[in-house]
Amino acid sequence: MTFTTTIVSQRLEPKASLAGATRPELAAALGAIGVPDRELRMRVAQLWHWIYFRGMTDFDAMANVGKGLRRALADAYSLVRPDVVAEQVSRDGTRKWLLRLAPVGAQAEGAEIECVYIPESDRGTLCVSSQVGCTLTCAFCHTGTQKLVRNLNASEIIGQILVARERIGDFPGLPPPADGQVPTDGSRYISNIVFMGMGEPLYNYDNVRDALSVMADGEGLSLSRRRITVSTAGVVPRLPDLGRETGAMLAISLHAVRDELRDRLVPLNRKYPIRELLDACRAYPGASNARRITFEYVMLKDVNDSPAEARELVRLLTGIPAKINLIPFNPWPGTSFECSSDERIGRFSQIVFDAGYASPVRTPRGRDILAACGQLKSETEKLRARAVLAVAAD
Ligand code: SAH
Repeated sequence: MTFTTTIVSQRLEPKASLAGATRPELAAALGAIGVPDRELRMRVAQLWHWIYFRGMTDFDAMANVGKGLRRALADAYSLVRPDVVAEQVSRDGTRKWLLRLAPVGAQAEGAEIECVYIPESDRGTLCVSSQVGCTLTCAFCHTGTQKLVRNLNASEIIGQILVARERIGDFPGLPPPADGQVPTDGSRYISNIVFMGMGEPLYNYDNVRDALSVMADGEGLSLSRRRITVSTAGVVPRLPDLGRETGAMLAISLHAVRDELRDRLVPLNRKYPIRELLDACRAYPGASNARRITFEYVMLKDVNDSPAEARELVRLLTGIPAKINLIPFNPWPGTSFECSSDERIGRFSQIVFDAGYASPVRTPRGRDILAACGQLKSETEKLRARAVLAVAAD
């Protein structure tokens, strides 16, 4: 009997990327191509340096790794990062990238996320996403209107930093961007990370924790844990873990001082009401006057911006080492909220300040490119929405 074999279709699986891998993941990847256990530590340290300190995207450039191992690595793996689909630069120097992730499973095309770089004279902040979209549906946030949602893995979170560092020239030997702003005081171009992009980081806790361990590793990206802030709408049961395991700074999206209003603005409040949330903050491991918890408060005209609410806010925060960050509402197409007037924000801020709290008003950055807080929603989602509207209008 003879057999004939016909290959009907052959889909080449893309090689797994090691860009964004944790130390244990790198060790496993090396082990899988036959690197003996006794060499693993040394080999991981070598790869770590090239990937995270030098920003290399090519195994062949890893001069202290033998040729044979370099070839074996390149045969089995890649150092591919998320694709930059679009880059927008605001008048104020803020940059927003639309990134496409590698496809998962049977997906033909990878999902998309946004990531924003905010340069100031004395720091450079990268605002990263922790999920594609978000399940929280906060009433004033654009991301919550996006349908598609999934968690990012640690490597996709780290991928955002690698891409941003590359684009602004923040790896050794790269030139700074010709058209963009970067800090002028000699600090790293990316000195701070905030988890304030798309998604609720504490709904993706394990990956956020692993990503933090990569970011803060002193042999690689070397970001200080005090300059990494995780912002949450208030996933109370995760707060003790976050404080204990990561040492990250905490920001709470409070936005209202009464449950009845917060239930509407931040629906997660129905599960974890204000009192429970603030009790968890009081007990947050590592909070102190030197490491204060930030309370974010979006200023919504005639909704939550009265002087009485400012006084109640101060009362609620008694006993918590806190700072308050007032965020002027950033509008987006289709929202019915409006931003409070400057005068109203000033009054609110003064009351908070008089009570002894720092109360900076967050300057909106990158509003012209829809890069400001709560404005992120992937471009294809928007294009699709527009296409649907166009059909509906026919
Ligand atoms: N899910 C997390 C992190 C993402 S949002 C959280 O809720 O904290 C980062 C901050 O931007 C949050 O405080 C969020 O409430 C705020 N925000 C969302 N939409 C906004 C908008 N349109 N204008 C101003 N701030 C907004």
